[in-house]
Formats: sequence, C-alpha cells, structure tokens
Amino acid sequence: MGRCTIYLLLILIALSIVTCKQKEKESTSKAVAVDATFFIQENLLSPITIEEVKLSGGTTTNCYKIEVRSEPGEHTMGPWCPRHIEDGKEKGGIWFEDGKVYDVDGHFIANIAEFYADAKWKLYNEDGSIRVTTTQEACEGAAKPNVEEAYKNHCVECMPSYYKDKITTYYIPVSPIYSEKKKNPGRGEPLGLAFNGVNFDPPAPTHAILAAHTVAPLDDCGGHVNPHGGYHYHAATGCTKKITQEDAHASMIGYALDGFGIFELLDTNGKEPTDLDTCHGHEDEVRGYHYHAGTPGGNQIIGCFHGETGNMVVSP
Ligand SMILES: [Zn+2]
Ligand SMILES: [Zn+2]
Repeated sequence: MGRCTIYLLLILIALSIVTCKQKEKESTSKAVAVDATFFIQENLLSPITIEEVKLSGGTTTNCYKIEVRSEPGEHTMGPWCPRHIEDGKEKGGIWFEDGKVYDVDGHFIANIAEFYADAKWKLYNEDGSIRVTTTQEACEGAAKPNVEEAYKNHCVECMPSYYKDKITTYYIPVSPIYSEKKKNPGRGEPLGLAFNGVNFDPPAPTHAILAAHTVAPLDDCGGHVNPHGGYHYHAATGCTKKITQEDAHASMIGYALDGFGIFELLDTNGKEPTDLDTCHGHEDEVRGYHYHAGTPGGNQIIGCFHGETGNMVVSP
C-alpha cells in the first residue's frame, strides 16, 4: 500500500468519526420522539399507524397517521354567543383584544360599540335579543373572509353538529427533524393538535372578523367551529389532557405538526420561560426542542415551526 493511500484512508476515517459525532449531537440535543400513547385512545377513529411521508423540508420519514373527528372527549364545547343582553357570562364564551381575554356576556355585546370605539357596531335588537347566526346557512355566510351583507353585525357561531361527519387525518413525524430555518403554517395548515385530536389553529383572522362588525367568540376552552375543519382551538386555556413533568417544567398539552411537543406557558411555580424564540420554542435536556403555548389572550398558540412539518387532511 502506498503512503498516499494510507493518508487518504486516515483522512476518511477521521471525517466519518466527525460526521457521526455531529449526527449524534443533533439527534440527542434537538429531538425527542413523539409518544403516540399520549393521544386519548377513545378519541381515535382507528389505531395510530406509521406511514412514510415527505415532510415540508423534503425529508421522507416515518410519520404517525392519526385519524380523528375534531371533537374533544374530555370537555364540552360551547357556549359561544349569548342570546340576550341580560345574559350572564355562563351563556357565552370569550373574546380577546390586545392580549386580554374578555367574557362575551350580554353586557359585552351591549357595549361593543364603546369597546371598539366604533358606532357602527350593533349586535342586538330593540328587545335586547342578540343577533346570532343560528342556522348552518347563516354560519357559513358569516364565517368566511367576505362576510355576506345579511350577517354583518352578528355574533357568529357554528355548531359542531353541522360538521360531525368530517374526518381529520394528521401525519406527524415519529422523530421530529429540527431545521434552522423557521417556517410559518401554510394556508389551511394547523399548528398542531391536542391529545384529544382537536387542532391548534393559527391566529383567528380578527381583522376580517371585526371589519364586518362580527365577533366569533371562542368557548371557555379556547375553541370554536368553522366550516372547513370543524371544532378547533385558538387558545390553550387548560381544558385538555395534560402530561405533567417530573421536574417543575410546564405540562405537555400536545404536539406541533413538526412533531415537537407543545407545553403550557407556566411552570409549576407559575413562571414563564424567559428564553423562547419567535416560534415560542426553546430546548432543554429532558424535552429537547419544544414549544410553549402563548397566553390565551394572545391569539397565537405557537409562533412558527422550527422543524419540518407533516400535514393534516380534512375529508370530505
Ligand atoms: Zn377559528
Ligand atoms: Zn420548556
């Protein structure tokens, strides 16, 4: 064997040791595999299976296929819109503005023109009854970007029963793949899902909603219904299944579409993490890279993805 060949071999060996070490570091420090047993089994339409899927970043990898109806098992849905301006807060849901959560009770509805400093608001009739979208036709005329004229100045609610036959299928990478490049959710793409299979949606389009002088309250659990995906969350308010942690870290409430865990905001001492990135994520030894949900009034559960995402399909 010539001297050159030996040098070449030594260089190759050294290189492969370096790359192996790097790979090891990436997989141990960034990614903790998804635990499919965390999902509430009674909420699944079929047992979770594994399929090869091409992720958003181009990587083809094993994904969990999770089939559900977008309905929680562990809490009730609604109410959303109160029916009379005398109704108490137990008759309505919540709404948010500037990071704050407000009860949508009769008083809120009666005073909404003042609240938004805009005299065009009037969500109630002379007898005090509130103008609510009470049929599927009305809900669909109001719950879209160009709100139909007839449903402007309405409190908008859609019932889960209108869309109870929809099936939601998620593909979540078994082992998440961290990416330096951040990614925003695409059109119709959710941020992730709770352990009950209900999706965490990107921020509600409050601009379009308010421009039509409508409100689309969330229930006290942070969810409401739209014609595309059925029931979904815009806020994590603590109603859904949680996995408590062995240390003081906040409890886990679900998975993002990239397979990284989503945790509540506050740890057991009531403290917020101080080192979150713009996606609301950070990393620790136990949980690898993971996200923390934003405050309920913030209209943003997580900010973006730091991993390659799987996808969600709703049918029919
Ligand atoms: Zn929504
Ligand atoms: Zn954390």
